[in-house]
Amino acid sequence: MRKLYIAGNWKMNKGLMETRVFVQRVVPEINKQDLGNVIPLIAPAYPFLEEALRESFSSALQVAAQDVSYHSEGAYTGEVSAQMLASMELKYCIVGHSERRQYHNETDAMVKARMLKLFEHNITPIVCIGETLAQREEGKTEEVIINQLNGCLEGIKLIKGTEIIIAYEPVWAIGTGENATPWQAQEVHKLIRNWLKNNYGETVANELSILYGGSIKPANLKELLEGEDIDGGLIGGASLKEEDFLEMVKIAVASKGEKC
Ligand code: PEP
Repeated sequence: MRKLYIAGNWKMNKGLMETRVFVQRVVPEINKQDLGNVIPLIAPAYPFLEEALRESFSSALQVAAQDVSYHSEGAYTGEVSAQMLASMELKYCIVGHSERRQYHNETDAMVKARMLKLFEHNITPIVCIGETLAQREEGKTEEVIINQLNGCLEGIKLIKGTEIIIAYEPVWAIGTGENATPWQAQEVHKLIRNWLKNNYGETVANELSILYGGSIKPANLKELLEGEDIDGGLIGGASLKEEDFLEMVKIAVASKGEKC
């Protein structure tokens, strides 16, 4: 059965104390639940990863970085390597978020290079793809998604399907309050799942979790999770409040995530 992720992308929000308080408050609530195949996850900023890892130690709450360098080590001021993340025993890392693509000119080739570094250190990449509003309006969604899958995953070996997580995040839905309808999201998720089937086979396609991201909140999550190929969410704004995050974990647990 596929894993269902409730993954909070905190972006450039929350300092040390806020991170500590959030984790200290949500961990006991998460520990009380039978999560089944649901994985709650947060991605704080780099300086607070260790704090989040320490405070969530031995709980089900997982911690991810928001980015990683595609260099191994050396004179790259401001960069953080996969080896550094692994030295904290971090297990997940977002790559290719649309904000990295938009503000830091990240290409699919760079996303792939980051993934390869993460694989060297057994860190699971959460690979973000998604079309802009202009591309959707021009009827190019399918073409853009397939190109991004080809670009990011070309030559990447997947055997079990759990080596990576894909997040479909339509750029027009991120931080705008305008989420894709469950139908729009499911349509693209199905396209991604079919591409996986054609390129990697049934096992990978069935086991790989595909998250939706874009203005998810407790009020729209249940409906989105009804999509057969929607295996949770990558959530920005609504993941910052403890009560909303916990509510979304509960909704995911109640949905049972009985997919695949
Ligand atoms: C995101 O940051 O990946 C995201 C989807 O943000 P939001 O939920 O705020 O739209």
